[in-house]
Amino acid sequence: MNKTIIVSNRLPLQISLHNNNLVLTPSVGGLATGMKSVHEGGKSLWIGWSGLKEEDLDPKLTEKVNAAIAKENCAAVSLTGKDLNNFYYGFSNNTLWPMFHYFMEYTTFEGKHWESYKEVNRKFAETVLEHTNDGDTIWVHDYQLLLLPELIKRERPNVSVGFFLHIPFPSYEVFRALPWREELLNGMLGADLLGFHTYDYERHFLSSVRRILRLDTHFNEISYQGRTLRVDSFPMGIDYNKFRNAAIAHHEQGPEYKSDLKKRLDAHLQSAPDAKMILSIDRLDYTKGIPNRLKAFEYFLDKYPQFREKVRFILLAVPSRSNVPQYQLLKKETDELVGRINGKFSTVNWTPIWYFYRSMPFENLIDLYTSCGVALITPIRDGMNLVAKEYIATRVDKDGVLVLSEMAGAAKEMNEALLINPNNFEQIADTLKRALEMTEEEQAERNAFMQRRLERYSVEKWAKEFMKALHATKQQHHVIV
Ligand code: UDP
Repeated sequence: MNKTIIVSNRLPLQISLHNNNLVLTPSVGGLATGMKSVHEGGKSLWIGWSGLKEEDLDPKLTEKVNAAIAKENCAAVSLTGKDLNNFYYGFSNNTLWPMFHYFMEYTTFEGKHWESYKEVNRKFAETVLEHTNDGDTIWVHDYQLLLLPELIKRERPNVSVGFFLHIPFPSYEVFRALPWREELLNGMLGADLLGFHTYDYERHFLSSVRRILRLDTHFNEISYQGRTLRVDSFPMGIDYNKFRNAAIAHHEQGPEYKSDLKKRLDAHLQSAPDAKMILSIDRLDYTKGIPNRLKAFEYFLDKYPQFREKVRFILLAVPSRSNVPQYQLLKKETDELVGRINGKFSTVNWTPIWYFYRSMPFENLIDLYTSCGVALITPIRDGMNLVAKEYIATRVDKDGVLVLSEMAGAAKEMNEALLINPNNFEQIADTLKRALEMTEEEQAERNAFMQRRLERYSVEKWAKEFMKALHATKQQHHVIV
């Protein structure tokens, strides 16, 4: 029986050791949820790194880990600490991540990192090939594995390979700066179907293929080594019902079930009937535009002093890659900005910014989403941005205003949000005022459109559409053969 293999850098589970017993906790993130329908019992396998370094495992423990994850229909690729330093922190996070988000000043080009990236992609290929038979379908995910499609296709021309990029694909003018640009494109072209979040990323990819590899493209098809590849956009959605149902449950819950955070938020809202809360949630990453957002909020309070003591900005910054110097600098800058702005405007009754530097459990995220009348999401670049979608999904009464950067992939599907340029403080300040003063009718009208779209194009649908398109390329291929 043909099967489907999903490949991503990390397996969708966390493994920990308690009293010599292995404990496996499944991930609840967007990708794991979306892939549920693809990764169903018996007919599929998920391949990725387990999160445990090779040198921390003895042969007995390795066997135990492998047996435990096999029960979850998963298989592990073994990586060393050195692999992680050079392939993951090095090439993936210091070369591809900044470059693909247009942060050229943070992009490093290290031969050692590139060699490791090739080596680790080969390790992934080895594990994938071990488990693959002709006729199988393989779906490879994200920027850590750009070379994998070709490594699979070369050995197994009769398997269908799909690839999805979860971050932006940059313009040719940026991508061309990569010393290994041909190799990376050739690696991706091993796929039969290449998926991106938006049409723009797709267009940028096709342009790089034409200009760097001098290949012909016809609309969204590429003829390559006797195969016809398809390139398309599949904007990733969210588990709409999970967020909506959680928000409904929150509205209905009695005071005894409320979290401490929710009680504080409610108390604040009740203390000042015309007070509003503005929310932002992101990983503390330089692509998310957190310092810009804080400066724009400061400018807003300067320009429109009537909102002082009326609005509160809740900034949830989730720690991320905190061993990387740029991220440490960003943390320092954010801490200082919050301190300076709070110092400048606070009164005995009011602190303008509530700053949380931690991750929060799902229930608390719902508390925040449902309590804040405005979401201010201003990335400098963002492949998609699921937080924007989750905020709208939780607004069960259809109130709430989303102020969203036009640089987020999500902006392409959320035209009814108030779209801003994250570098334009004047525009952000004026838009915030507009958001805070928007009538409930207008809020409801805008949110109804977005909610309908989000419900229809959930993350499950996203995965199904991709698989459908991948199977269609397979059939097309058979017809040509
Ligand atoms: N999130 C979370 N815990 C937190 C804050 C956020 O699990 O404390 C989730 C959030 O619900 C969303 C994801 O993290 O699903 C962030 O996805 P997004 O696309 O916005 O940004 P990314 O971090 O992938 O760049």
